Amino acid sequence: MKFISRKYKKISIALSLALLLPLIWSLTACSTTPESDDAFGSTLSKETLAMFRKSPNFRDENFINIAGEKSKPSTNFLGAFYRYFTTKNPAPQPEKPLPFVALNNQSFIDAPKDSYRVTWLGHSAILIEIDGLKILTDPMFGERASPFSWIGPKRFQQPPINIADIPELDAIIISHDHYDHLDMESIKLLNDRTLHFFTPLGVGSHLKQWGVNPSKITELDWWGEAEVANGVIVAATPAQHFSGRGVFDRNKTQWASWAIIGQKERLFFSGDTGFHREFDEIGKRYGPFDLAMLENGAYDKSWSQVHMMPEETIAASKMLNAKRIIPIHWGTFDLALHPWYEPAQKTYSLSRAHGVTAVQPKMGEFVLSTPTGPVAQWWNDQRERVEETNTFPKAALATKLE
Ligand SMILES: [Zn+2]
Ligand SMILES: [Zn+2]
Repeated sequence: MKFISRKYKKISIALSLALLLPLIWSLTACSTTPESDDAFGSTLSKETLAMFRKSPNFRDENFINIAGEKSKPSTNFLGAFYRYFTTKNPAPQPEKPLPFVALNNQSFIDAPKDSYRVTWLGHSAILIEIDGLKILTDPMFGERASPFSWIGPKRFQQPPINIADIPELDAIIISHDHYDHLDMESIKLLNDRTLHFFTPLGVGSHLKQWGVNPSKITELDWWGEAEVANGVIVAATPAQHFSGRGVFDRNKTQWASWAIIGQKERLFFSGDTGFHREFDEIGKRYGPFDLAMLENGAYDKSWSQVHMMPEETIAASKMLNAKRIIPIHWGTFDLALHPWYEPAQKTYSLSRAHGVTAVQPKMGEFVLSTPTGPVAQWWNDQRERVEETNTFPKAALATKLE
C-alpha cells in the first residue's frame, strides 16, 4: 500500500507540474531547449530567500496561500488533468476578430481632470489613469503566453494599441509571474518608458534579469504599501493562486492583487485568483472601491481554487464593496474549457441578477467614473450558439452570494 500511495503521490506531483497554467511549457521544458533561457526568468539568490523567510506568507521555501494553505492548482490533479486533455472546448475562440476601439500615440495625451480613466487592453492588461498618473497592469503584448514562439497558448485577439504607442508610464504593476501576465519582450520594450515597477515578492528578480534597473523595482508582500507619486498609493493585497515559469520554480515567487488608492478614487485589480475570504478584509481596509477589475476567465470547476467561477467574481465584488466592476482575463487567450464568450455573458446576466454594476467595455474603450449607459453585448456579434458549460453547483453559489 505504501508503495502504491507513494507512486500515486509521485504521479500526482508530476501531473500537477504540468497542469493548467503554465501548461504546455511545463511539459515541453523537460525535453526542449528554449529559444531564450531568459524567458524562464531568474532563480533566487540566497540573500533573497533569507528575506522571504521573514514573510508570514512564505513557508518551507515556497510562497503559500491565504490561511497558510499550500498552493496547488487543484485538489484533484488527476481529474483536472484528464478533464483538460479530454474535454473539447465547443468555442475556444471567436470566428472573427472581436470589435475593439483602436488607440494610437495620441489617445492618452489629454488625461481627464476629475475622473479616473481605465482602458482594458485585453486579458489582464489595463491602462489606469488616476490623479495625473499612468499605471499599466500586467503588460502582455506577445503573441503567445509561453517561453516559446512555436508552442503555447496563442492570442486570438490583438491588443487595441501597438506597444510602441503606449505612453510614458509612471508605473507598471505585476500580479504574478505566469506568462499571460509577465511577458519578457513586453517588459523589455516598455522599460525605457516606465518610471517604476511594483511587484509581489520575488517577481522583481525576473525584471532585473531582463535589464530593469533594481532602483526602479519595489517588491511588496501582501498588505505592503508604496507611493507611486502625487499621493497615489499602491498596496499589494492577497490573492489565491500559484506561480512559476518553468518546471522547478513552482511558488518561488509571490502572487498578489492590488489596491490603487488615489486622492479621491479607489481602484482594485484582482490579478489571477480563486475565491477567498480575504476579499472581505481588502474591502474593509481599502474599499469601498469605485471600480474593481476582476478576473473572470480561464475558470473551471476542476481548478476553481485558482481562478474564480463567474458566480464567485460577482460574490467577490460584493465583499470588496465595489461600486462597479470590469471583468478581465478573457477575450484574448484560450486557456480553459469554457466558450470564449461565456465570461462576458455570465457577468452580464449574473451582475443584473445580483445587483452588481458591471461595465463591459470593448478593448480600447475608455471607462470613466461617470455613469455609463446600458452595456452593449458586443461579444454576441461574434458568438456561435453552443451549450453553456461550467455551471457552478447551486448550493455553493447560494452560500457565496449570501
Ligand atoms: Zn496565473
Ligand atoms: Zn492568468
